[in-house]
Amino acid sequence: MEGSLTLLAVLIALLAGLAIGKAWERYKLKDGRWVDRRRGRESPHYILGLNFLVASQIDPAIDELTKAAELAGDPLEIRLILGNLYREKGQVGRAIQEHQSLLQRPSIRKLEHANVLLCLGLDYKSGGFVDRALSAFTDVLKLDPDNRYALSNLEKIYEEQHQWDDAYKTRQRLAALDDPEHQTAHLAILGFLENERGTQALKRMEYSEAAGRFEAAIELDATNTPAQLNLGDVHFYLGDVAAAIQTWERLIERSPERAYLTFSRLEGAYPHVGDTRRFPELCRSLIAGFPQDWRARLALARHLDGQGQPREALDLLFDALVQNPHALSVHQAIWQMLSHLQLPTALVDQYIDLTRGAIFYADPHICVRCRYRSTELLWQCPNCHEWNTFVEERIAPAKDTEATL
Ligand SMILES: [Zn+2]
Repeated sequence: MEGSLTLLAVLIALLAGLAIGKAWERYKLKDGRWVDRRRGRESPHYILGLNFLVASQIDPAIDELTKAAELAGDPLEIRLILGNLYREKGQVGRAIQEHQSLLQRPSIRKLEHANVLLCLGLDYKSGGFVDRALSAFTDVLKLDPDNRYALSNLEKIYEEQHQWDDAYKTRQRLAALDDPEHQTAHLAILGFLENERGTQALKRMEYSEAAGRFEAAIELDATNTPAQLNLGDVHFYLGDVAAAIQTWERLIERSPERAYLTFSRLEGAYPHVGDTRRFPELCRSLIAGFPQDWRARLALARHLDGQGQPREALDLLFDALVQNPHALSVHQAIWQMLSHLQLPTALVDQYIDLTRGAIFYADPHICVRCRYRSTELLWQCPNCHEWNTFVEERIAPAKDTEATL
């Protein structure tokens, strides 16, 4: 009898404890009154705030979410969003303050801690406090090692700081978290990062390390153009002209649209191996294979002009102009040839006819991801920081439609 009463008392105490625990979870004492934590998300202010957020109306979103937070006893997730909204508005100081105050909460859980640190890292980043952003993202990874968002932000900071080794390791971690079908994109980026490491070695004149890095980059992604150019350059510096030529010719096979990057290199290298006809042959075979290739025509025209054949050169340049009337380099070359030929009226008229209506832009390239424009080919976009997104922008009435953008 005594025993069963004790058991009953224990059971009742247990149930009461559970009930109080549940209530504690739901309610919170704030300013002398009990606040229902769930009311935050159920209040119209929360929904209104999210609606404003979706419509990118930041100020009213802040107003509504502030009200929702107050009603619900300042839950962490709403204060976190509010901090992010201040950052979006450009009030970085206020965002930092908001997020730092969340870190002071005694009951903060591990993953919440990581989330707050991530937001704080983004605040620091947008305020230009690179070192503090770096340590915030690093701290996120200590709490949550697989946090992709922290990893990719960290990688971008390392890239901006030219800390290519760290950027490489960070990208490896990102790749390890991703599915097999996404590995090609990671390998391509790792290739660019490896190429940057090689370029650094090249600046230190450590040729064998540089060559190893460029080879590794090509191993990661056989179409990595800068690594192939650089590897050829290293061979050339070290006096192995045949290997340099082989490397650059292999680049042309793999990416004929980038062939022009090897032109001045190959034009200079072929005579070293006693072959003066190979360069014009290369240009002619590229023109035959890719009729829209104005750069091969320009290169061949310059070569022929150097051999004292300005009239043949000019015909090639007129063809190049039809393919890309916006290339300033073609116009400059044309005037040079016309001048060599003493400005024959018929040819000057032909030039004027061809260029009528063309709008000039030095050598336009465009990022396919963010539409950033550049006057040269870039391997990493300065605007969206993506790798290998630049294509030649052409508005030419080209006959080959697939080449136009
Ligand atoms: Zn871009």
